[in-house]
Amino acid sequence: MTFSYFCYMKVIIDPGAGPCFGVVKAIEKAEEFLMANQILICNGDLIHNDQELKRLENLGMRNLSIHQAYKQHKKHILFRAHGEPPASYDLAKKYKIDVTDTTCPIVKTLQNKINQTYENIKNTPAQIVIFGAKNHAEIISLQGHCQNTAVIIENPTEVEKLEISKPIYLFSQTTKYHSNYLLIKKLIEEKILNQNLSLSSYLYFHNSSCKIVAQRDKQLQEFIKNKDLVIFVSGSKSSNGKELFRICKSSGIPSYFVESAKELQKQWFIDKENIGISGATSTPLWLLEEVEKFIKEISIP
Ligand code: SF4
Repeated sequence: MTFSYFCYMKVIIDPGAGPCFGVVKAIEKAEEFLMANQILICNGDLIHNDQELKRLENLGMRNLSIHQAYKQHKKHILFRAHGEPPASYDLAKKYKIDVTDTTCPIVKTLQNKINQTYENIKNTPAQIVIFGAKNHAEIISLQGHCQNTAVIIENPTEVEKLEISKPIYLFSQTTKYHSNYLLIKKLIEEKILNQNLSLSSYLYFHNSSCKIVAQRDKQLQEFIKNKDLVIFVSGSKSSNGKELFRICKSSGIPSYFVESAKELQKQWFIDKENIGISGATSTPLWLLEEVEKFIKEISIP
C-alpha cells in the first residue's frame, strides 16, 4: 500500500457525538466516589461501552448484584442511569447498603409517569404498553414501577399481538428509535379504527423518547451527508448505538461499526477523502479521538 492511497483524507469527529448528559453525570459520580474510596460497586454495566468500563475497572469499579454486594460485606452501591425498580432500593435498605443513585432525570420522570398511570388504571381493564427491549435495564426498572404489568413490544410487528379492546397507555423506552415508536402508534391507531373504536378513548400516547436521542437521528443524518466513509464507534450492547448505526448503513455510504481503534482496517480508507467519525450516546469522546488519531496516522508516509 502506498502513501498516495491515503494522502487526501479529511477526518472529522461528529460534533453531536459523545456521551449524553445522563451518562456523563453517572461517570462523574462514579469517578468522584472512586477518587475518595478506591473501590465502587455497580449493579450492572454503568454504560454500554466495554472500553469505558475497562477504564473505570482500572480505577476500582466492580460489577456486583445487590445480593453479591451484601454477601461480600460491601457497604455502598451505585445505581445506573438506566434506573432501578423500587425493589432494588428496598433490598439495599434491607441490607444496609448505601446507594449513589445516578438514574437519569429523564428516566426518573418516565418511571414516575408509569407509576402514576398504573395507580390510575389498576382497577380498570386498561393496559400499559411499552416499546422497548424486554431485558434492557431501563425496561426492568419501568416494569418495577407498574408491578410488572406492562406489555412490552420490541418492534412494530408485535403490535399484532396487542389486545385492542383494552384501552392502551403507550410509552417508549427512552432510547428507542423515535420513528419506530411513531410507526407503532400509527399501527395501533389503525387497529383501533378497524374495530370501530374511538381513538381518544382507546389510545393514550406518551412521547417518552429521549429528545437527545431523537435529535441525534437528524444530527447524524446531517453529519454523514457528503462523507465517503463513516466509522461508527459504539459498544455492541448499546441499543442506541445499534439504532444510530442503522441510519449510517441505510444512507448507502460505506459505514463500519467498531468498538475501538483496534478493529479498524487500513483497506477501508483507500481512496476515501471525507471520513466521518461518529458514535452512540454512550461512546466516550476519548475513544472517538483514538479512532481519529489512528486514521490520521495511516496517512503519514
Ligand atoms: S439517552 Fe437520554 S434518557 Fe438515556 S441517559 Fe442519556 S439523557 Fe438520559
